[in-house]
Amino acid sequence: MTDRTPPVLTVRNASMAYPGGVNALDDVSLAIETGELLAIVGPSGSGKSTLLNIMGTLDRPTSGTVEIGGRDVSSLSDRRLSALRGRWLGFVFQQFHLTEGLTAAENVATGLLYAGVPRGRRRPLALEALARVGLAHRAGHLSHQLSGGERQRVAIARALVNNPALVLADEPTGALDTANGRAVLELLTELNDEGTTIAIITHDRDIAERLPRRVEILDGRLVADTYEGS
Ligand code: ADP
Repeated sequence: MTDRTPPVLTVRNASMAYPGGVNALDDVSLAIETGELLAIVGPSGSGKSTLLNIMGTLDRPTSGTVEIGGRDVSSLSDRRLSALRGRWLGFVFQQFHLTEGLTAAENVATGLLYAGVPRGRRRPLALEALARVGLAHRAGHLSHQLSGGERQRVAIARALVNNPALVLADEPTGALDTANGRAVLELLTELNDEGTTIAIITHDRDIAERLPRRVEILDGRLVADTYEGS
């Protein structure tokens, strides 16, 4: 028996071979503890998206395992896996992926659709999440009425609304200008200060430098894993 809490997410010896002989990931191991804020950084083609898809349980590795909260997910059915994903993980994408024609609050509430939250609870939780990202006053705006930076904040609220154990953010500033990109990074840092565990996938070394932990990948291999001050 141990009373140590398992990492939020553990990747063990994961490799991914795509048809055609590309080894997009080669024996990558990584553990993310509760409360961390880290960058997974590498140039284009290094395997970041492949790793993100494996971490997000959207793809299964060719070999190796992924554990969420200490539980090996490889034997789970797709249905159980998507339930686990809905409960444990939040996703933020470069292109926001908001639904046009829905308000900010409605978009955020879609983050609760698969979490079994009763209808009447969804809106108040969505409003709470919008308040956390500083957008309470935009709750009724449609997505085309929002700026790029605001859209990404709505997407972050949608990722947070179910209180996930880990938020996976894929190039979250990639579609934003410098000022809005910086603001989104500051918001993610604040949310981490409040306790949210966040992994940011980025090709941008300047972003990575500003985070407390940097996991570097190159040609599908993990080549460095450094902490602030180390
Ligand atoms: P990054 O996100 O860092 O740009 P990727 O994970 O997208 O890197 O890609 C890593 C490598 O795997 C690249 O050589 C890419 O061409 C290849 N790759 C990615 N997805 C596929 C796929 N579905 N089929 C074949 N090769 C792929």
